[in-house]
Amino acid sequence: MGTKVRAKVLQALLFACPHCRADRQGALVSLRRWFTLFFLPVIPLGELGRAVRCDTCRNSFDPAVLELPTGAGVAQVRSDAVRVLAALLVGAGDRTALALRASAVRTIGSLVAGYDDATLTTDLEVLDPAQAPQYVAPLADGLDLGSKERFLAELTTVAGAAGPPTPAQRQLLEQIGAALGLTPAHVAGVIATSAPGGAR
Ligand SMILES: [Zn+2]
Repeated sequence: MGTKVRAKVLQALLFACPHCRADRQGALVSLRRWFTLFFLPVIPLGELGRAVRCDTCRNSFDPAVLELPTGAGVAQVRSDAVRVLAALLVGAGDRTALALRASAVRTIGSLVAGYDDATLTTDLEVLDPAQAPQYVAPLADGLDLGSKERFLAELTTVAGAAGPPTPAQRQLLEQIGAALGLTPAHVAGVIATSAPGGAR
């Protein structure tokens, strides 16, 4: 007679493993002590707690690790944000400019399969510029500084595809930069170096 701790899998999940430093398959497990008779668990003696176990490194972590954004999660949020913001930047410029539309379709199409000019037209009808910050906000925590700069630079390049950004485009880019947590000076620097003509 004795006791033994067994882990019961409650849910398989994808999480950002702190040990592997990557997205990993794992499981949320319930740790329970069992009363054993002849080494066979026969009576559950109560839950000791929960843990998240990594299928790759086999380490267990406090369930608080589930609050860390996964790389895949951030990438999805980023794609959604690029789609919405690039379309809004077309709307804030001359939406009949072919070079501007083509640049937005090319940038979004590299992330969203099948995105074309007709999809852009639909996006322009349904999107509201007031929604921009809500798409950017999750990236303020999810992206590092260099990734934020590249994100803003990519969108500035779209905005400037048919000439220098219009005041409305510039205002939107500044809003995006602020929502990313960049300072106004930093945003101005990124815009100046990514817009056509380079730093002016
Ligand atoms: Zn791991």
